Amino acid sequence: MADTGAGRFAPSPSGRLHVGNLRTAVLAWLFARSTGRRFLIRVEDLDRVRAGAEAEQLAELAALGLASDEPVLRQSGRLDRYTSALEQLIARDLAYECFCTRRDVAEAASAPHGRPGFYPGTCRALSEDERARRRLGRRPALRLRSAVDSWTVEDLLAGRITAPVDDVVLRRNDGVIAYNLAVVVDDADQGIDQVVRGEDLLESAPRQAYLASLLGLPIPTYAHVPLAVASGGRRLAKRDGAVTLEDLALQGWSPAEVLETILASLGLPGGSPDSALAVFDPGRLPRHPWVVDPAVLFPAAAGPACKPSAPTDKVHP
Ligand code: GLU
Repeated sequence: MADTGAGRFAPSPSGRLHVGNLRTAVLAWLFARSTGRRFLIRVEDLDRVRAGAEAEQLAELAALGLASDEPVLRQSGRLDRYTSALEQLIARDLAYECFCTRRDVAEAASAPHGRPGFYPGTCRALSEDERARRRLGRRPALRLRSAVDSWTVEDLLAGRITAPVDDVVLRRNDGVIAYNLAVVVDDADQGIDQVVRGEDLLESAPRQAYLASLLGLPIPTYAHVPLAVASGGRRLAKRDGAVTLEDLALQGWSPAEVLETILASLGLPGGSPDSALAVFDPGRLPRHPWVVDPAVLFPAAAGPACKPSAPTDKVHP
């Protein structure tokens, strides 16, 4: 079969998915399917793992009708691939050991001429003797020797995005492979040429695209979609009330009804992902965050008969 490319949803198994995460997953599926791509689910379990969360998340996605077209890939099983990408960068002198603590990095950023969140290259030019001496006191992280200050990508929703690129961490000092490296290697290995994810990762796209270009990997098409926020504008979190399928089931909401509400928030008809696909048009998606006040959007009901039935009743203005 000709390779049609793929889109993906790549959750970290740190807990239950909330309605904002599920909405992003629905959008990733719609973008993939509407462009004839495969839809893949990848479990990003290098860090922040809670036992049992992966199975829960996959069940939650399945309950909405979202399943991976291929066996789910787990990052924890791919350390060899990340190591070989690292070796490729090291061999080309594109990575170096960094002994800075978080505090060192924060202090450097707040110093005169420092840039918040931007690693100033403190350990770039250490001599071999100095590195050997420092290794006695601290395990080093590995950082990218970036040759640029910024990089530009095209995003289907945000347009042309230029963001700073610094010497990003490739492998943390506890040995864990950094997200930015893993995601770039995985997307390329899985034939993922369309990355649809939350807007909070928009600023990461340029540095990931730069890293991909250094590794000779193709740059995917990006679409960063609006996040779900709580009434005050903060990113939605579990503490904001009944926002997971599990919480909502306790209040009498079926997954199909939650899906209908998610689709309604996107201006799409309910029913199933397939019925939404028939009319999906990325150009008509809402561009602002989705305000989720669970008490308004998902009012508790004694039983299904007591819930509002029209999707419009459930949508926060
Ligand atoms: N695993 C990341 C998260 O759950 C998403 C990474 C990505 O989509 O590139 O926030």
